[in-house]
Amino acid sequence: MSDIRISIANKVYGSTQQDDQFHHAIAELNFTVHPDQFVCLVGPSGCGKTTLLNMIAGLDSHYEGQIDVGRSGIIPSIGYVFQNPRLLPWHSVRQNIELVFAGQPKTELIDGLLDSMQLRDVEHQYPERLSLGMQRRVSIIRAFAVEADILLMDEPFVSLDAPTARQVRSLLYSLWQQRPHTVLFVTHDLREAIALADRLIFLSPSPMRIVSDIGVDIARDQRHDESRIEYFREQLLRHHPEIDGLL
Ligand code: ADP
Ligand code: MG
Repeated sequence: MSDIRISIANKVYGSTQQDDQFHHAIAELNFTVHPDQFVCLVGPSGCGKTTLLNMIAGLDSHYEGQIDVGRSGIIPSIGYVFQNPRLLPWHSVRQNIELVFAGQPKTELIDGLLDSMQLRDVEHQYPERLSLGMQRRVSIIRAFAVEADILLMDEPFVSLDAPTARQVRSLLYSLWQQRPHTVLFVTHDLREAIALADRLIFLSPSPMRIVSDIGVDIARDQRHDESRIEYFREQLLRHHPEIDGLL
């Protein structure tokens, strides 16, 4: 894997010529993510985080600037947990997950992920029969199953209850430790971000820019220690007052 290099001069929705929908979403956003880094992107609602992930995923190429996700000629695989689960309603839970494999589903891998997410009982059900939290867990499995080089996660744990969110977070963290890969993770939850990330990037309201870019130096084996996370958070807010209004 190589660095992800993001260099966006401008991202605008709509046209500047008499368009009511004109919106300057991103301005001068430049940063580089190193291979296997776990980066949390934190910023207020509507600041442009989903827009940025769509651009990195290659789903939106209407912008001025450049995003390089790999060396020339080598295209890394990308897993994406969308902000909305986006399951296909005419496929069962298992079929929705199998879609990411070109013909050869990894049965053991899928079974293990369904067990960890407590979804084995509903693997043959259709998405409309599931709660939003369950649909979200299916979409997380689908992204994990790709075993991608780059994993993009857009507020993935938002509609999960607190114990489930904690469990899925620790599953994500252990999967990442077993098989390091680059993660870009959008969240509003500063404690969650500190528990997961190597690096926190705080983003401004539109047009989105970087306000602060801060490393998290908490040892891996202390990430489950809530008092350690809380201490880091207090220090962070004390020494970086500029991030206060962004949460
Ligand atoms: P976030 O994910 O940080 O909440 P988004 O990336 O979804 O923010 O949106 C950033 C801004 O761009 C918002 O003001 C939103 O209304 C606007 N926006 C998003 N998509 C479109 C679109 N297709 N057309 C016009 N404006 C859009
Ligand atoms: Mg969003």
